[in-house]
Amino acid sequence: KMHNRIQELRGNIRVFVRTRPFLPGDGDNHDSAVDVSPDGQSLQIFDKTGKADNNFQFDKTFAPSAMQENVFEEVSEFVQSALDGFHVCLFSYGQTGSGKTHTMQGSGNGQMRGIIPRAVEQILEQVNVLGQQKWKYSISASFLEIYCENLKDLLVNMGDGVPAGGKAPKLDIKRDADGKSYVNNLAGVKICNTDKAEGMAQLEAVMAAAAKTRSVAKTDMNAQSSRSHSVFMLHIHGQNEEDGTIISGALNLCDLAGSERLDRSGATGQQLKETQAINKSLSCLGDVFSSLASGSSHVPYRNSKLTYLLQDCLSGDGKALMFVNLSPTVQSSHESLCSLRFAKRVS
Ligand code: ADP
Ligand code: MG
Repeated sequence: KMHNRIQELRGNIRVFVRTRPFLPGDGDNHDSAVDVSPDGQSLQIFDKTGKADNNFQFDKTFAPSAMQENVFEEVSEFVQSALDGFHVCLFSYGQTGSGKTHTMQGSGNGQMRGIIPRAVEQILEQVNVLGQQKWKYSISASFLEIYCENLKDLLVNMGDGVPAGGKAPKLDIKRDADGKSYVNNLAGVKICNTDKAEGMAQLEAVMAAAAKTRSVAKTDMNAQSSRSHSVFMLHIHGQNEEDGTIISGALNLCDLAGSERLDRSGATGQQLKETQAINKSLSCLGDVFSSLASGSSHVPYRNSKLTYLLQDCLSGDGKALMFVNLSPTVQSSHESLCSLRFAKRVS
């Protein structure tokens, strides 16, 4: 039964749109610029003149009232397929402040938890069930950041990657014997899969270590995170103890750099380099989507670190799902339109 459902999800990239609620910093005008149709299948954006500029259709749209748990329900099957050996990727795309990190990571230990902790929890629960049958699993987590086309290990102080007191080794994207991509020298932190509480405590330590690496590196953490992509990875290896079958799945949860058009005028030096790098890597992702959608035989995965890293998820047997995060404000309507047009390239 499960296998059939997975077959259905195969092959195409899905796009979900999530609009966040109004927040205290949004000003007094609480008329939403985002209008979702009653069936939830399409939406329109209103600009300052009040005119609807376009009509977009996506696989699913979430209203501002959608809770983290409602959002996770809709991706849980996707997450699940990593346990069956698929390479799965979820992205969050949108302007800074639109709710990407809220969607992927969320906050705290309760209702506000995002996809990362919920996905890990689901996988640990499921592995426990399968482990009582004939499968033996090992699970590890990695967390990296891509900034100006450089990879950085956010778990550099954990796991097995770094020699004590030594300098972090350089990370490189490589291909293994099966042609799957992996990151050389990246730390992998083992997550206990026989005791859920212990596994979740290890995940918390991973998230705390990543936050610490980020905060030590930059004085302004938010500015930094809006200019880099972060990719949380869960590597899942399973072996069938009866017939020896091995599966190797991966779940990548990717919080993309802010998609706002960065102004090049006046930017110089590092700032200009940064601006160009972000624009380039997001446009490379768009190029890969368009090229896949058009059925082109050449897909330009290698044009950016992000697409090269996630090639297995974007091609062939892979599965990818993109969230477009929107702010409801009229001031954001231009960026919202740009984000929706980007997402249109997928289909
Ligand atoms: P981004 O990562 O896209 O820059 P954040 O996820 O940091 O944006 O969201 C910006 C702010 O809005 C944060 O304070 C976050 O907690 C809040 N926020 C985003 N989405 C929601 C939501 N669905 N419900 C409540 N608050 C949200
Ligand atoms: Mg963020």
